[in-house]
Amino acid sequence: MTSPSADVPALTSRTEALELDARDPLAPLGEQFELPEGVIYLDGNSLGALPRAAPARLARVLREEWGAELIRSWNTAGWIELPARVGDKIARLIGAGPGEVVAADSTSINLYKVLWAAAGLQRSEAPARRVIVSEDTNFPTDLYVAASLCRELDCRLEALEADALPARLAHGDDVAVLLLTHVNYRTGRMHDLAGLTAAAHACGALAVWDLAHSAGAVPVDLRGAGADFAVGCGYKYLNGGPGAPAFVWAAPRHAASARQPLSGWMGHAAPFRFAAEFEPAAGVARFLCGTPPILAMAALECGVDTVLAAEPLGGMSALRARSLRLTGAFAALVDRRAGAWDLRVVSPREPERRGSQVCLVHDAPGGHAYGVVQALTARGVVGDFRAGEPGPRPSPDILRFGFSPLYTRFVDVWDAVERLAGVMASREYEHERFRRRAAVT
Ligand SMILES: *Cc1c(COP(=O)(O)O)cnc(C)c1O
Repeated sequence: MTSPSADVPALTSRTEALELDARDPLAPLGEQFELPEGVIYLDGNSLGALPRAAPARLARVLREEWGAELIRSWNTAGWIELPARVGDKIARLIGAGPGEVVAADSTSINLYKVLWAAAGLQRSEAPARRVIVSEDTNFPTDLYVAASLCRELDCRLEALEADALPARLAHGDDVAVLLLTHVNYRTGRMHDLAGLTAAAHACGALAVWDLAHSAGAVPVDLRGAGADFAVGCGYKYLNGGPGAPAFVWAAPRHAASARQPLSGWMGHAAPFRFAAEFEPAAGVARFLCGTPPILAMAALECGVDTVLAAEPLGGMSALRARSLRLTGAFAALVDRRAGAWDLRVVSPREPERRGSQVCLVHDAPGGHAYGVVQALTARGVVGDFRAGEPGPRPSPDILRFGFSPLYTRFVDVWDAVERLAGVMASREYEHERFRRRAAVT
């Protein structure tokens, strides 16, 4: 077997990029999306592109299901089944089984629920374990949620450097839960999910994974890894639309015993019995809380279907191979074309440690990462900017480019780097209009 890195095309011309696209068996998957003419969209890691099927589906939900059928649609249009039905579809992308995933709420809220559940299991089995271990560069909401949970449950959050995690777990007899995001939102660095889950279990801790930047982007095998709980995001690589519902997975061995703190009627064993006492649903449905947002669920289903459309073409492993070729080609081109302008690739080069994004820093004095991203956007290349942190372990400002394996093409990679080189050569990132910060970056 050849290593995936051996397969990275060294693009030397636009024509070559177009030829690669023409030969790519996955290229037709891109036709599932509506993208504006002239825009190279490298931000699908923040908000996936619009599936072509979504506008018609939403119109049908509005006019026929809501407008004409009204409340009957809970049954006749299957609204009530959506959290489980969409959950089952997501399960196929993350190595989970049917009935093990539900789509619901936001990632932040689901994280609170599963962390509470994991800490609760430990509390009854091993009450002395009071530490939640995470990574210091984890997505802030994950750390905020963990910290607030720790305040309530009298636990302690330890957020460590990624490289320090194995050693901490080796001496982890006080650790209740290991909480990690599989692919780092800033750097694109990917953890060894199976290895760290095993290390957590070896010390007696439970492993909770956030798949926000993994689901739909890289293969995940939750069951194979023996993980305990997972959550993930619907609006990134799953293309579910702005603010799409997120998802929750509980390992079958926990689903029947884990309790979550937001016992709402949709998580009840029989919601329409309207019983006064709460009795949790048998499986992962107990992680539901309130009424599902049907419009958003319908859009999410369209998004998840765009990823499932890859199944006959090799599924997530074929998408992964394409993603590595795209990110590898982009990094190599930046090294060659834009390296002269103090732009440096900071995402891992090793395929097994890289998600589906490539991040750059601008090393020039003052660093113009924000201006570069704005100037690039003006040239039709949409990536994003993530501010660095001063802190004890300072991190630089970052230019972030996500590569959706469904709709990013090799010609996009080529054109994006050409336009980046144009921005750097002209220094237009120094213009005042590119330096003004918007509310959302
Ligand atoms: C995007 C992302 C989230 C988003 O959480 P929301 O509740 O949807 O705002 C959470 N965690 C990680 C790691 C993310 O990348």
